[in-house]
Amino acid sequence: MNGITSLKNALLHLFYPHVCAGCGSDTLPVDSQLCLLCLQELPETGFEKHSNNPVEKIFAGRLPFEAATAFYYFSKQAALQHVMHQLKYGGNKTLGQQLGRTFGEALKRSDRFKTIDAIVPMPLHKARQRKRGYNQATLLAESIAGALEVPVWDDIVHRVAATATQTKKNRVERWQNMQGMFFIADNQKAARKHLLLIDDVVTTGATLEACGSVLLNIPGVRLSIAALCYAND
Ligand SMILES: [Zn+2]
Repeated sequence: MNGITSLKNALLHLFYPHVCAGCGSDTLPVDSQLCLLCLQELPETGFEKHSNNPVEKIFAGRLPFEAATAFYYFSKQAALQHVMHQLKYGGNKTLGQQLGRTFGEALKRSDRFKTIDAIVPMPLHKARQRKRGYNQATLLAESIAGALEVPVWDDIVHRVAATATQTKKNRVERWQNMQGMFFIADNQKAARKHLLLIDDVVTTGATLEACGSVLLNIPGVRLSIAALCYAND
């Protein structure tokens, strides 16, 4: 690092404090949003290497898929909670890019995601995206796509406005309601392609299932699913 660069970094640090997105420590690499300790402690699942992993068990029998995975266990562990909050609401785009790139590199090392043709981020409906300024799934998708060297297609499936409160409906009504939340805008481009649908978190899998089953209406589409975090409670 030359003198000018280190002076520039020192000034940047003064005006834009560069702190770890996990623990708030200010001792971290210049090009990282997380300190080395947090990076080391984020709980990776390793699911991408194995079929019939817990994420695949969520979707088994609910929709046909090629492979499904999630990168981190989402627990009450403080660092990852801070990380996800900053990704979703804190506008920390660089963090999304860093996590997406790490996830993408893991997917690239796995044999199970070799035939992906394009990445599809879970759409947000327009009003929410305007309010937030970005879609965290798109942020992740772009970096994952960079690692896998495939395009991001964020224009083939869209999401309609938020549904009224779901809690009073039974499971079947909820499911119909969810499925109606997504529609295909372009079924030419994606026909006969293997799509990787990306979201930030998988819990019950209901939203991913609804969006995925709509994507599967495109002729010849094969579907895989990847979420950054797996929350099993
Ligand atoms: Zn940290």
